Amino acid sequence: MLQRLKVSTSSRIDLVNITQKVEHVTNASGVTSGICYVFVPHTTAGITLNENADQGVLLDIVERLSSIAPEGARYHHMEGNGPAHVKASLMGHSEPLLIENGSLVLGTWQGIFLCEFDGPRERQVIIKVVED
Ligand code: ZN
Repeated sequence: MLQRLKVSTSSRIDLVNITQKVEHVTNASGVTSGICYVFVPHTTAGITLNENADQGVLLDIVERLSSIAPEGARYHHMEGNGPAHVKASLMGHSEPLLIENGSLVLGTWQGIFLCEFDGPRERQVIIKVVED
């Protein structure tokens, strides 16, 4: 089963919590034990797992990524969104998640975040649930 989700982002850089959307797909699949593979098919957006409680963690991630790939630095990419490409690669484009007893296996403080670096726009998240 392959599922495509649409996720709207609301600013140039935006970390959107998609945990509930991914959980919904997992639950709807009926798979009780397996893998939920989450893939972002974009070059200026990525995905990460991190803290879902303190928004400060997300701000820290964004600020530190912006120090590595700041706006206004010299980039070879001609489109003008070089920093977004670098940040997306640093975050990565997929997360393999475990499913046990019909639920995603996540730490108490873990959430799944789509990382927008060239928004706002509508993004796709592709999910494959595989039973073991
Ligand atoms: Zn580009």
